[in-house]
Amino acid sequence: MVLTDEQYDIVLSEISERHPGLMACASCGRGAIKTVGSIVYELPEFHPPGGVLNINISGVRSMPIIPITCDDCGSVELFNAIALGLIDEITGNFKKP
Ligand SMILES: [Zn+2]
Repeated sequence: MVLTDEQYDIVLSEISERHPGLMACASCGRGAIKTVGSIVYELPEFHPPGGVLNINISGVRSMPIIPITCDDCGSVELFNAIALGLIDEITGNFKKP
């Protein structure tokens, strides 16, 4: 899911408000600038053996993820868009206007 400019601004606002110290990188410690992704990715539920990508399972649950990348070392932090209140857990639609 690619965010619109308006949705991207809402994501930036929500993450900045909830994590005011986030722009300092916890991995490299250099306080690098971080880039908030404009794409919501999906993290699928694991189904052993072999995982969901290797077997045919319908109705697989997944988590909508927004990545934030350190522009210096490449470390990535993942945020659950449902927990941030941005994606409706039932419909999967973006909740904010
Ligand atoms: Zn870093």
